[in-house]
Amino acid sequence: MTVKTRFAPSPTGFLHVGNARTAIITWLFTRANNGHFLLRIDDTDRERSKDEYEQAIEDGMTWLGLNWDEKANQKDRMDRYAEVIEKLKADGRLYACYETPEELGLKRKTQLSRGIPPTYDRAGLSLTDEQIAKYEAEGRTPHWRFKLLHEPIEWNDLIRGEVAFKGEDLSDPVVLREDGTPLYHLCSVIDDIDFEITHVVRGEDHVSNTATHVQMFEAISGKAPDFAHLALISDAEGGKLSKRLGSLSVKDIQNDDGLEAMSINSLMARLGTSDPIEAYTDLQPLIDSFDFSKFSRSTPKFDPDELVRLNARILYDTPFEAVKERLAEDGLSEIDEAYWLAVRPNLEKLGDAKSWWEMTNGTVTPVIEADDKDFIATAATLLPDAPWNDTTWKEWTGKIKEGTDRKGKGLFMPLRKALTGMEHGPELANLLPLLGPEKTKKRLAA
Ligand code: GLU
Repeated sequence: MTVKTRFAPSPTGFLHVGNARTAIITWLFTRANNGHFLLRIDDTDRERSKDEYEQAIEDGMTWLGLNWDEKANQKDRMDRYAEVIEKLKADGRLYACYETPEELGLKRKTQLSRGIPPTYDRAGLSLTDEQIAKYEAEGRTPHWRFKLLHEPIEWNDLIRGEVAFKGEDLSDPVVLREDGTPLYHLCSVIDDIDFEITHVVRGEDHVSNTATHVQMFEAISGKAPDFAHLALISDAEGGKLSKRLGSLSVKDIQNDDGLEAMSINSLMARLGTSDPIEAYTDLQPLIDSFDFSKFSRSTPKFDPDELVRLNARILYDTPFEAVKERLAEDGLSEIDEAYWLAVRPNLEKLGDAKSWWEMTNGTVTPVIEADDKDFIATAATLLPDAPWNDTTWKEWTGKIKEGTDRKGKGLFMPLRKALTGMEHGPELANLLPLLGPEKTKKRLAA
């Protein structure tokens, strides 16, 4: 059996972290099984779906390195949905309902106030011809529901294990709107059947939808695929993701935060699993170690700071060739391999390279207070011989301590101000070799 999966975003917004996580996990599972990955755009909602979002989803996936073997849009499959809908009507599995949203709301309220679960009461099933004629005369058009069988619904979830529902506890889902447009549930099931999807991976917020889908699969094709429902991510405190964090998009992470795609891949592939979260510069080890049995049912905590930590580690492992072009685009075409190797341990984000470059190669106005003049002059005479490396700072300040009466802040702050023109900034031990003897002497002599 060839594993066939799909990632099915709705193009009603940008690809956000939760969605991206589903995409990453589905993709890793597929590639680990030499499977086939379908990008399905769930755009039946024509009002809310936008081309711009569809493009952003594709761009986000491409940036993350998640390629797809096939792409489909639900909007192109309306004829097929209509065909299945007619068949289900003929089979007596769809029935017409005439309630307005207000009437449904009222029913729910009454049920809740009586302590009854707010499932649909199936009034549509027992309408008489006169009632239907009356509704139609009022100008009402029906919406249609899928009639669930009142029997146990069970599946063995790849993450949640045995899942069981009772058909009678669930509302018959609406599958066709008043205006004749089909809704996500049925379209999704028809697609999963037609594209021969073997594994459906999605968030656990879909578990009860899945229960109704199982019966739709059975009604249309006789069998359902396997399911894996991922525990939803929470914020660092274990609460629901805030609106801000929940809507944090891949685009923001890429453009505003300037993080590497592999920092998201590294985090999302391992979050909530028994494997350690580690920084990877390549997807292959994440494919190789992928296994649904490592995923926990409990809510994993998403901490954006962790992305930054991973990002720093990824940059530390990134060769010059991999960033050369991006540095040049950022106006840093003069950075060469030696400079990159020296600066990369200091970067949280690639964009930080710019401030390092300005600090070491731009125009810095050294600040030397009157009281520090002699001290700086002496320090300049004690500079170690080239070549400089990451131990040069220690060697130099060791000599300064012996040769002057300065120590602690009184020693390093004047040096910092002379070398960088500022009171805060990068570790001087890291800065010194990047600056090199010539510029260092020049700044100390300013
Ligand atoms: N478009 C649905 C969503 O984004 C797809 C859910 C699914 O079937 O995977 O929630």
